[in-house]
Amino acid sequence: MTTIAFIGLGHMGSGMAANLARAGHDVRAFDLSPEALERARSAGCLPAESVERAVTDAQAVVTMLPAGRHVREVYEGEAFGAAGPDTLLIDCSTIDVATARALSEAAAARGLVAVDAPVSGGIAAAAAGSLTFMVGGSERGFERAEPILADMGKAVIRAGEAGAGQAAKICNNMLLGATMIATAEAFVLAGELGLDPQVFYDVSSKASGQSWSMTSYCPVAGVGPDSPADHDYQGGFGAPLMLKDLRLSQEAARAAGASTPMGERATELYERFVADGGEGFDFSAIIRTLGGHSAG
Ligand code: NAD
Repeated sequence: MTTIAFIGLGHMGSGMAANLARAGHDVRAFDLSPEALERARSAGCLPAESVERAVTDAQAVVTMLPAGRHVREVYEGEAFGAAGPDTLLIDCSTIDVATARALSEAAAARGLVAVDAPVSGGIAAAAAGSLTFMVGGSERGFERAEPILADMGKAVIRAGEAGAGQAAKICNNMLLGATMIATAEAFVLAGELGLDPQVFYDVSSKASGQSWSMTSYCPVAGVGPDSPADHDYQGGFGAPLMLKDLRLSQEAARAAGASTPMGERATELYERFVADGGEGFDFSAIIRTLGGHSAG
């Protein structure tokens, strides 16, 4: 059993903290929202009054916060100061690579061990304990973080040194955003050319155009396995979260001097989609903006 401070009990963090408590850890939970704290209490965690109270005496800290500025606020504001020597810090939020690296350095300078461990999988996977973690940090940090992460997920993969977990996450999601748009476009054009969407699916899902966006998450209702398209694009992975990850990919590409024209275009299209009313829908609903007879 490990004493773990868990900060950020939102859509993802609430299920993750509950799984740590279920696995027998002593979980000291904190969130700015009193409702989130109550939910954590009924899931077997011990609500704390502040970040500082949660982190004091904890052997590990897990954060699941919206963005880089919240992560900096929590660590630089209270967590660094309250953490005892050699405390393990695990940030599971999706944030920019530069902040993840800076936090790792700041932690090391204080005698603490930090890893970035963003997740693949949504709210259902967080609740079910079947997330995939991509971990950036030292080998020692990874060895210490792995058993804790394994209690919240089905796979824990070391991606490399500090920031590598975030790099893997945003590169994967840049690819996902671009393939979803390309898949949606192909269905729209197929419809315009008089092809039945099911026929196009039957062909392309077994041909070289196949991708996860087509065979696991088809953007057209009634085609392929059950997906958000079959539920009016509700649930799933919200378009604003896809946009957030695409923007992070473009920020990283600029900093690294990498050319990512498809990622850039996907970011522009999701920006337009979210601004024009796509905010409350799954990211596959972008097919609706592409027009054509077969569009959702
Ligand atoms: P969320 O907004 O539901 O939860 C964030 C929580 O952090 C909120 O409860 C908020 O009150 C709390 N918080 C903010 N600032 C705080 C502070 N200073 N101290 C304490 N608590 C604070 O977000 P989410 O959907 O749970 O996502 C969390 C992270 O996981 C994000 O980085 C997101 O990109 C990533 N992610 C989300 C999904 C998903 O499907 N929702 C999937 C993969 C990754």
